[in-house]
Amino acid sequence: MSALIIDGKAEAARLRARIASHVAALPYQPGLAVVLVGDDAASAVYVRNKDRAAKDAGLAVQTIRLPAATPEADLLAVIARLNADPLVDGILVQLPLPAHIRADAAIAALHPAKDVDGLTAINAGLLAQGRPVMALDTPAGEALAPCTPRGVMKLLATIRPDLAGARALVLGRSALVGRPVASMLTAMHATVTLAHSRTPDLAAECRRADIIVAAVGRPEMVRGDWIAPGAVVIDVGINRLADGRLVGDVAYDEAAAVASAITPVPGGVGPMTIACLIENTVAAAAARRG
Ligand code: NAP
Repeated sequence: MSALIIDGKAEAARLRARIASHVAALPYQPGLAVVLVGDDAASAVYVRNKDRAAKDAGLAVQTIRLPAATPEADLLAVIARLNADPLVDGILVQLPLPAHIRADAAIAALHPAKDVDGLTAINAGLLAQGRPVMALDTPAGEALAPCTPRGVMKLLATIRPDLAGARALVLGRSALVGRPVASMLTAMHATVTLAHSRTPDLAAECRRADIIVAAVGRPEMVRGDWIAPGAVVIDVGINRLADGRLVGDVAYDEAAAVASAITPVPGGVGPMTIACLIENTVAAAAARRG
């Protein structure tokens, strides 16, 4: 078997085009504020890409760059100002933050209605309760859900729109990826196993799965013989090797020989994260501005 390659770049471009035409018809311009503290090289690239894609979709974007030595109180003051700014619909604080700033404090400072990465306790709680998430086509959604998990679910939907009864294995339990993906799969009626570093036999857990979502941050950890023939594999991992290559958490060539469909790295989940950030901002604007 040779797996179908799930083209995240093309899917993200379609979503961004749909959002752009939606935004063009709005009586206001949704606003996104991205806050970058310090000079982490990877974060700077992510922020630049977000800025450009959001502007292309018609959003008003401001990127606030703060020096690495910014005291936590100053960052919280910037967030408070953005919370109060009526022209700002979404606020994204780029993680990781410098070590002297508590990420939890920065996240807790975000107004939940502007928390477009869905990380505040309110939004994470609503998602865990199974409440509907905000999107272009669900204006009555209640939770703003994390962007990468939303991208994962959209890519999965292109292959397998009906997940009822599917056995899904999520590898990784972070608040940013693994846990929200598990909640979203559960909401779609999949039977979900959430595995992590204390799971004894990861290979056996993977082999039982119809769907594998890998989000561990370990280069090519999931091998081809961990995957049941015909399974769908979504690889969230982005790992830079010593030789400069970018690889996922799944050994791609081995996995593509047994899976029915697989996301590449790069060009899979990554582009969807940015498109979903823009969608969340537009949905947050609609919810707040009415
Ligand atoms: P994270 O916060 O470091 O969480 C990693 C998770 O993987 C943890 O739950 C950890 O288990 C588990 N884990 C680590 N090593 C393991 C092992 N050997 N066996 C089993 N489980 C293991 O990472 P994250 O933020 O979720 O990100 C995961 C990956 O996705 C990274 O490569 C990151 O770069 C990538 N990512 C991509 C995007 C995108 O847009 N495509 C967005 C976000 C993240 P414990 O909980 O037990 O420690």
